[in-house]
Amino acid sequence: MADRDGLIWLDGEMVPWRDAKTHVLTHTLHYGLGCFEGVRAYSTDNGPAIFRLNEHTDRLFRSAHILNMKMPFSKDELNEAQRASVRENKLDEAYLRPMVFLGSEGMGLRADNLKVHVMVAAWSWPSYMSPEAKELGIKVRTSSYTRHHVNITMCKAKANGNYINSMLALNEAISGGAEEALLLDNEGYVAEGSGENIFIVRDGVLHTPELTSCLEGITRATIITFAKELGLEVRERRITRDEVYIAEEAFFTGTAAEVLPIRELDGRVIGAGKRGPVTEKLQAMYFDAVKGKSAKHANWLTPVRD
Ligand code: PMP
Repeated sequence: MADRDGLIWLDGEMVPWRDAKTHVLTHTLHYGLGCFEGVRAYSTDNGPAIFRLNEHTDRLFRSAHILNMKMPFSKDELNEAQRASVRENKLDEAYLRPMVFLGSEGMGLRADNLKVHVMVAAWSWPSYMSPEAKELGIKVRTSSYTRHHVNITMCKAKANGNYINSMLALNEAISGGAEEALLLDNEGYVAEGSGENIFIVRDGVLHTPELTSCLEGITRATIITFAKELGLEVRERRITRDEVYIAEEAFFTGTAAEVLPIRELDGRVIGAGKRGPVTEKLQAMYFDAVKGKSAKHANWLTPVRD
């Protein structure tokens, strides 16, 4: 990833991709205290446009606030940095990675003289899973790792260090032959995937875990909006793992994963073992909205060109 052409926005300036470097004593590299976003831009009739840019920037600022990191840029500046990262790298579609991290001015947990740095990179990353997975769904395993407890780390922050838990779970799932992990909370209730929120359909009603240990997903909020538009009831509540086994449909949501059907959990086939009708409808609405084909939600898209 590091050795390629392109530009990365770093602390207010566009720098050549290869020169966007940081020192090995960068504090965040040692202790994981930092926060980031995962954002996508899609090709639309108005050129490339970023989906729900304001919501992502707001969450980045909330994460920084939770971690007590003082943001050296305004939300407008960060929005502009993201638009410029797509535009100046001449991308039609992009995955964007804004990150806020602490510098190398000091070491140790007590360091209090650390500069807060901000970066935004954008690159082409068409599909997080195989393209067929959008239709056929993926195989998921319940993780032996528990999702973070709200008092162990800050679950509302998209914090770098939180992703150790995600990676342990994902690597375990993949080495066991699955494509994604399902993490349970410390009481054993369904929380989320390694980088996605989860929904199930039972008796035509959409259920998703309440926002305690799972991230406040922007795709999750988007899907809830669509469900309401369709007149589908949405219940945010505790869900057990065996309820996922017996659901009619189940799917993950996330900026990277988009709307991804789950066809199997722990060797139990869910519903028809492929994308179900409710998932298909919501997924179609999602792709229409991100690609600028939904007049109703045009305001969710921010074109990168002026
Ligand atoms: N949960 C976790 C742990 C995540 O990393 C993500 C991806 N940001 C999500 C859920 C989904 O969030 P969003 O829809 O905002 O991408």
